Amino acid sequence: MEELKRIVLNQETEEDVVTSLSVRPASLQDFIGQKDLVANIRISIEAAKQRKEPLEHMLFSGPPGLGKTSLAHIIAHEMNSRLTYTSGPAIARAGDFIGILTNLSAGDILFIDEIHRLSKSVEEFLYPAMESFKIDFIVDKGPYAKTINFNLKPFTLIGATTRSGLLASPLRDRFGIQHHLDFYEPEDLAGIIANAAKKLSLTIDAPSSLEIARRSRGTPRIAIRLLKRVRDFAQVNTGSPSITLDQVLHAMDSLKVDEQGLDEFSRKILRVIIETYSGGPVGVEALAATLNEEVDTLVDVVEPYLLKAGFLRRTSRGREVTDKARKHISCSKK
Ligand code: ADP
Repeated sequence: MEELKRIVLNQETEEDVVTSLSVRPASLQDFIGQKDLVANIRISIEAAKQRKEPLEHMLFSGPPGLGKTSLAHIIAHEMNSRLTYTSGPAIARAGDFIGILTNLSAGDILFIDEIHRLSKSVEEFLYPAMESFKIDFIVDKGPYAKTINFNLKPFTLIGATTRSGLLASPLRDRFGIQHHLDFYEPEDLAGIIANAAKKLSLTIDAPSSLEIARRSRGTPRIAIRLLKRVRDFAQVNTGSPSITLDQVLHAMDSLKVDEQGLDEFSRKILRVIIETYSGGPVGVEALAATLNEEVDTLVDVVEPYLLKAGFLRRTSRGREVTDKARKHISCSKK
């Protein structure tokens, strides 16, 4: 069950981190899909290069696994700059953050993942740092307190968030460029799968890529993960690194990932709303408690696709299943 949950939960696992290193797109050209966003980023990069200035601070929002981190790496590569990676929860104290900021060189990119989880005290440092590349740090207390000013090198902050709604507006407003990443179309995912297969030295035909793509919940991370699971099946069953539609269908069946890309965990959520809460509306806290899951996991990771694909509806009184979900669940019971 844990493995199945991980296929549907687009959160990054250790295996993903390792795979990412080999399949991550290296340049904007390799980055498939999100055409308008890529075109806009290309212009921003070109303009900054022409002005010989660092890029404006950029915010990427959207569900996990859609390419926010990859884009930050690509931008650093295209700007010939160094990327420093950190995340909101990793910066516990303002002191740690000052260390990171003062180590940045001119033109560097500071990538902060899950930026909505920065603590308030750290966030306060970020405002002057983003605005005027300065920070004021107060040492000691009471009459002995004194302010130390640090001048920073001009850098670019790239923030990524799955919940842009949780960002304080003064923080959000300091990003000159803001982009939202949406779920991918199956055709784009099929392209991502074909590229990843090449990098993993696998052969896969077009119908097989498209079949995996259709079951990947619009998410490149899930697409690549499913490709690797299918590779395991193909290798064990045929001893060959070639993937055919038969093997894809067989693997999906074993992994219990259905034609809609839902796995046991997504179906369980819908089933609980239907059977325990008469189809809803049910508050997300109650639902999380019944499922023994974190509210954040449901809201950030599982729910966005169920909403997008029309299985769930969000109402003022909570979550409700749709007719499509009822049909899907009653068919999948058989
Ligand atoms: P996020 O930061 O949004 O959670 P990542 O950038 O870590 O997502 O992407 C997850 C995985 O999907 C990575 O392995 C990455 O290589 C791959 N990926 C994401 N978007 C694309 C894309 N547009 N083209 C090719 N691969 C992608």
